[in-house]
Amino acid sequence: MGRGYHGGVTAAQTDVAVIGAGQAGLSAAYHLQRRGVSHVMFDAEEGPGGAWRHRWKSLRMATVNGISDLPGIAKPAVDPREPSSEFLTRYFREYEEELGLSVQRPVKVRAVSREDDDPAGRLQLDTSRGDWTARAVINATGTWTRPFWPIYPGQSTFRGRQLHVADYVAAEEFTGKHVIVVGGGISAVGLLDEISQVTSTSWFTRRAPVWRDAEFDSRAGHDAVALVEERVRKGLPPQSVVSVTGLIWTPALRAAAARGALDRQPMFAAIEPDGVRLADGNLLKADVILWATGFRAELEHLAPLHLRGPGGGIVMDGTQVAAEPRVHLVGYGPSSSTIGANRAGRAAVAAILKLPGLAPAVETVTWG
Ligand SMILES: Cc1cc2nc3c(=O)[nH]c(=O)nc-3n(C[C@H](O)[C@H](O)[C@H](O)COP(=O)(O)OP(=O)(O)OC[C@H]3O[C@@H](n4cnc5c(N)ncnc54)[C@H](O)[C@@H]3O)c2cc1C
Repeated sequence: MGRGYHGGVTAAQTDVAVIGAGQAGLSAAYHLQRRGVSHVMFDAEEGPGGAWRHRWKSLRMATVNGISDLPGIAKPAVDPREPSSEFLTRYFREYEEELGLSVQRPVKVRAVSREDDDPAGRLQLDTSRGDWTARAVINATGTWTRPFWPIYPGQSTFRGRQLHVADYVAAEEFTGKHVIVVGGGISAVGLLDEISQVTSTSWFTRRAPVWRDAEFDSRAGHDAVALVEERVRKGLPPQSVVSVTGLIWTPALRAAAARGALDRQPMFAAIEPDGVRLADGNLLKADVILWATGFRAELEHLAPLHLRGPGGGIVMDGTQVAAEPRVHLVGYGPSSSTIGANRAGRAAVAAILKLPGLAPAVETVTWG
């Protein structure tokens, strides 16, 4: 690391800045370290774990979908009853310690901009702990901090409670209340399962959900990722991979369906003070609306780079931003799963090593 003078202030220098220390950022850091590339990692959290730090307690290792190991160090033995937030936070902490990854936290990157018009020049990072410049940026900021709330007529008039799954704590807080769950993804059906065990629920989705009887085989999984990849190559906003894979019947979800908790209704027409107005004109009274409507990519700090195109998304070439080869997005679109994040971290580092001035000092370091 060096220091340079720019814009009237002294900025620390590095070759690659990694923003975010979830699965995607750690994967990138692992490969940067192996290839001997000078880098610095910033993470806005107080401690290790990325978004797993915040996932609700009842999301246990048995109920997550399958979490890939971080590169190079396998997960320790899993107790399926342990909350994923606790198990994975501990695994990430041990991983950082064992590899000696130095993550600067809590540090929020507020803005990334170009230092000048030189397409091979440095990028500037304005962070909550000072200014940095880097030859390349690997952005791994996930989606958890940008919950998506759709807008419906009358939403602000609702007298009950509205919350997003990002704020969900436990089903027990809804006992005795009627809860409406909106959304067609895995979070929606998982939460309907647990909330319907303590109180009454209704489920609304825009489209009829597609159910599968079995886990995806690797071919079908590959095809689903390819669909999302195709969208981001065209510069369209990414869909989550799950949105193209459909929902899988598990024994717990079959039991929920048998209790009537998964009787899906088409979206309501409007929200009113006491509930929702259905398409047939009837009022369904409700105390809580839980929006299980997903997340969007956290990219606000990249706004000064003007990466978004007319399609509303960012035109991507693999993990590389097509119009700005110094910037890679990992854990984004097709790589927004733990396995995708691993692959993206590796691909981003391989591509970055082709940038001018970034040839590796050390070809490969083997971990003993
Ligand atoms: C409820 C839920 C369940 C899931 N279950 C599974 C599953 O079972 N299997 C699976 O493969 N995937 C699952 N996923 C998806 C998976 O969690 C992620 O795709 C994966 O963990 C990759 O995470 P990430 O590194 O991209 O992001 P994150 O883990 O969100 O890490 C991003 C990090 O960047 C930091 N950050 C954000 N903005 C800034 C900034 N400006 N400056 C500095 N730091 C910043 C954040 O604080 C955070 O630490 C699930 C997702 C959700 C929401």
